[in-house]
Amino acid sequence: MTDHVLTLNAGSSSLKIGLFTAAAEPEVRATGAVERIGGAAALTLEDAAGATLGTRDLGEGGADHAGALDAALAMLREHFPEAGIAAVGHRVVHGGQDHDAPVRLDDAVLARLAELEPFAPLHQPHNLAGVRAARAAFPEAVQVACFDTAFHRHHPFVNDVFGLPRELYDRGVRRYGFHGLSYDYIAGELARAHPALHAGRVAVAHLGNGASICGMVQGRSVASTMGFTALDGLPMGTRVGQLDPGVVLHLIEQEGMSAAEVTGMLYKRSGLLGLSGISNDMRTLEASDDPRADEAIAYFTFRIRREIGAMAAAMEGLDGIVFTGGIGENSARVRREVCAPMSWLGVALDAAANEAGAARIDAGGDVGVLVIPTDEERVIARAAAAALG
Ligand code: ADP
Repeated sequence: MTDHVLTLNAGSSSLKIGLFTAAAEPEVRATGAVERIGGAAALTLEDAAGATLGTRDLGEGGADHAGALDAALAMLREHFPEAGIAAVGHRVVHGGQDHDAPVRLDDAVLARLAELEPFAPLHQPHNLAGVRAARAAFPEAVQVACFDTAFHRHHPFVNDVFGLPRELYDRGVRRYGFHGLSYDYIAGELARAHPALHAGRVAVAHLGNGASICGMVQGRSVASTMGFTALDGLPMGTRVGQLDPGVVLHLIEQEGMSAAEVTGMLYKRSGLLGLSGISNDMRTLEASDDPRADEAIAYFTFRIRREIGAMAAAMEGLDGIVFTGGIGENSARVRREVCAPMSWLGVALDAAANEAGAARIDAGGDVGVLVIPTDEERVIARAAAAALG
């Protein structure tokens, strides 16, 4: 019976997979991940309660994305032999100007999405490799792309444009914004559980390896710290965040770096890793007594604060802050360092609730402060199920 949907989220060295029922509100049956694709790849599969169903070592260099998908599907079939796949939902980072909603994938759409690869070099090629592998594995299933840019597609002009010659804007050089699947999920949770905040002005901080802030008014994105690519805005695990474009010119013209070298530096050797010289991982930095780790965290939290202030200006006020993503959900220190100096904006943190990792962590000031675990896979599963009509 084809009564299930599959979600695929293919990153540069990882592949996340989810098996859901094909209901309007899909129920998760299993989630799996292949980590370190291209290196010592390993697969794990968990049931809905998080219990491990299986693990498999795929060997040193033994799996590319197609091999990783094959291994994950084989393990899924072993544990869920009855589950037929009616639709596959794919996370695709960049949808360009064309897409403000999920879309069914065919050859023409796929070719257009491939043209956007240079705009998201860390993600888009892998996302599309996952699509090709899934089309081969499930030729009868509906394939649906869900875009990280779609949630942001209707920004006001001033939040969408760079101060460049106008023809570049018309050719698509504009602020797209990313992490839209996560923000879509958070908007839904606000509507469900916090309707007053949903109706207001909320800065949602998605803080993971990638990090951005979305200004959300009445559940819709009006601004994002991320821009044309996923490099802009907050410093991230290895990405630079906001940067004077003159620095790029300096590196090329005075320091003699090639475009490829600058790209590698801005995407892979900057941010928390570049500043600390220690790690891109917040847990490692928090555990370190090296002052460079403290400085990297201080810059990270300062930029978050600055951008929340900017979002308050863009939204003409601030009713709430939501923390999500691996760091936002788990790091009491980051939340504290972001919120403590923002009393001028009406932010007051309940220190004990924050340390305890509670869902609501404000002390009753003007600004509600929430921690909401994100669930991008669920947003993809909903879209895949919806495509089945
Ligand atoms: P991705 O963007 O790859 O999905 P995640 O959302 O999983 O990443 O976030 C990964 C980040 O979350 C890492 O920097 C990791 O150190 C951080 N993180 C996870 N758990 C904790 C924790 N308990 N305390 C501090 N940081 C944490």
